[in-house]
Amino acid sequence: MKALVIDDSKAMRMILKKMLTEMDFEVSEAENGLAALSLLETGPRPELVLVDWNMPEMNGYEFVRAVRSRPEYDDMKLVMVTSETQADGVDRVVEAGADEYVTKPFTRESLAEKLGLLGFPRS
Ligand SMILES: [Mg+2]
Repeated sequence: MKALVIDDSKAMRMILKKMLTEMDFEVSEAENGLAALSLLETGPRPELVLVDWNMPEMNGYEFVRAVRSRPEYDDMKLVMVTSETQADGVDRVVEAGADEYVTKPFTRESLAEKLGLLGFPRS
């Protein structure tokens, strides 16, 4: 299975890549929503996308909106990685079209649990 990690923090991308690789995903990376959209145009289609909320160029909210406006991407599961703890933040994630969200900081276990809810096999 393929996963795409989108985050402007290189450290965060490394953490997520390690966790997802341990869960048997083949992981690619992008540093913002815009870079991720062009990667989707040219590269292999990931089954799972983890996208940070706060990023320059194009943030996670805008990325999710853009992906959900494209029917050919309907099968991709989108997980928002957010530091927002307010209820309205979570509402906006769902409204934008994300399938799930994880709140920083999170553990490999809590991430695996969310991915399990989306139907990805536990490893
Ligand atoms: Mg960020």
